[in-house]
Amino acid sequence: MTAPIRLGLVGVGKIARDQHIPAISRNPAFELVATASRSAGVDGVASFATPGEMLDAMPQIEAVAFCVPPQVRHGMAADALRRGKHVLLEKPPGATLSEVAHLADLAKAQGVTLFATWHSRFAPGVEPARQWLAERQVMSVQVEWKEDVRHWHPGQDWIWEPGGLGVFDPGINALSIVTAILPEPVFLTGGELAFPDNRAAPIAASLQFSGASGAAMTAEFDWRQTGPQTWDIHVATDAGDLVLSSGGARLSIGGEQVVDAPEAEYAGIYARFADLVASGGSDVDLAPLRHVADAFMLGRHRTVAPFYDDPNRETS
Ligand code: NAP
Repeated sequence: MTAPIRLGLVGVGKIARDQHIPAISRNPAFELVATASRSAGVDGVASFATPGEMLDAMPQIEAVAFCVPPQVRHGMAADALRRGKHVLLEKPPGATLSEVAHLADLAKAQGVTLFATWHSRFAPGVEPARQWLAERQVMSVQVEWKEDVRHWHPGQDWIWEPGGLGVFDPGINALSIVTAILPEPVFLTGGELAFPDNRAAPIAASLQFSGASGAAMTAEFDWRQTGPQTWDIHVATDAGDLVLSSGGARLSIGGEQVVDAPEAEYAGIYARFADLVASGGSDVDLAPLRHVADAFMLGRHRTVAPFYDDPNRETS
């Protein structure tokens, strides 16, 4: 067996604790040897305040996973690539398209792996959906991605700042699935983005797309949904309907449930990262981020009621 890849983890926040650290510890291809965070660490693992300090002190690190917000990622990731490290990026891969293209160029020049992850693509229903749709004519697509921001992103100020994407932070997960499963690309034709009066990022978005062969697609993203949460994609085809629900964990075709599997997205991400490092490849697909950029460019911007983390403040 080959030695595990010595990995540094940058940003010990919610997703690092919920998903990355458990997935790394279960994958023998990796050894978590250091973390960089201003406020947190992992028991028994060397910890540093910044990724620069981490890489200075531990040149034996071979790969770095970035779980910090997109707005602060580019400089850190570029430094790691310049030092010859393989790099994994949480979604969205950056705050702009250009900076991610720059990282891809750097990785190529350095001969190292860059993996811009889209965790929803590793949901169990996604690959079977892609395979089934590859043989079908798509007539229409409806995406409904509605959740409660107060539950999923409490106190995350960065997500409301420019580059934080607002409701597109979850919405881009739906777009990452759509761009993986549809047999041909769709293009944004219009939309409306609802910005709370006191925030720099949208709380809801309503988008329309068209496919090259005329398929119509709509996407409804909303962060104001309390109660049951909705992460569904309905695709109508010439051979019946396909429904991916629960964020891609469940798949039904023609009304029959064909996949209902437990979540294992981050196990899939780290397995793929190990394969990419072993083969010397990179995986940087900007399609989901391009759609979000298109929505900011082409969508009509509307101002709505201010949003406060404390729901009582809204009504007071
Ligand atoms: P988070 O809980 O707010 O954690 C962010 C981490 O980044 C913290 O460790 C924080 O570090 C660090 N950080 C925050 N602002 C920073 C800054 N200005 N400079 C340097 N470091 C900073 O966020 P998260 O939910 O884990 O999300 C991180 C990324 O994962 C985002 O791109 C998000 O879209 C993605 N993601 C999140 C989820 C989810 O369910 N939360 C799911 C999938 C993907 P300190 O400890 O140094 O303060």
